[in-house]
Amino acid sequence: MSSLKNKMPEQSPQVRRHNFDEVALGYGAAIAKLEAARCLQCKTAPCRKGCPVEVDIPGFIKEIKGGNFDTAIKTIKKKNNLPAVCGRVCPQEDQCEKFCVLGKKGEPVGIGRLERFAADYALQQNHEEQNLKATE
Ligand code: SF4
Repeated sequence: MSSLKNKMPEQSPQVRRHNFDEVALGYGAAIAKLEAARCLQCKTAPCRKGCPVEVDIPGFIKEIKGGNFDTAIKTIKKKNNLPAVCGRVCPQEDQCEKFCVLGKKGEPVGIGRLERFAADYALQQNHEEQNLKATE
């Protein structure tokens, strides 16, 4: 297991200078599952104590690891209705990730990146369902 977070894919400087889209592209499913596999599923979940709304962090990460992305977003939304925003702008380094045990010898689990992944996945699914309904 890597002691470092999986890198977030991003637009290259050559591409991003021609648009106003987000530079950070977010994890895809494969990278998200790899990052989720770094989580030790600590029984005491110290990461959760650093979350102002006490999201079940190991719970949603376990679902991502297993490829159950729908359940992952449902788990997050029990406590937080704005995961796409929080996954992007929360200061995770001073909150959940600050308390992650993996941070003692390397980098913490990319909790914010995983939250963003789950939220973006759900939005994408929703989008596709709407498009399908529109063509019916
Ligand atoms: S502290 Fe880190 S390794 Fe432990 S459950 Fe939380 S995210 Fe996973």
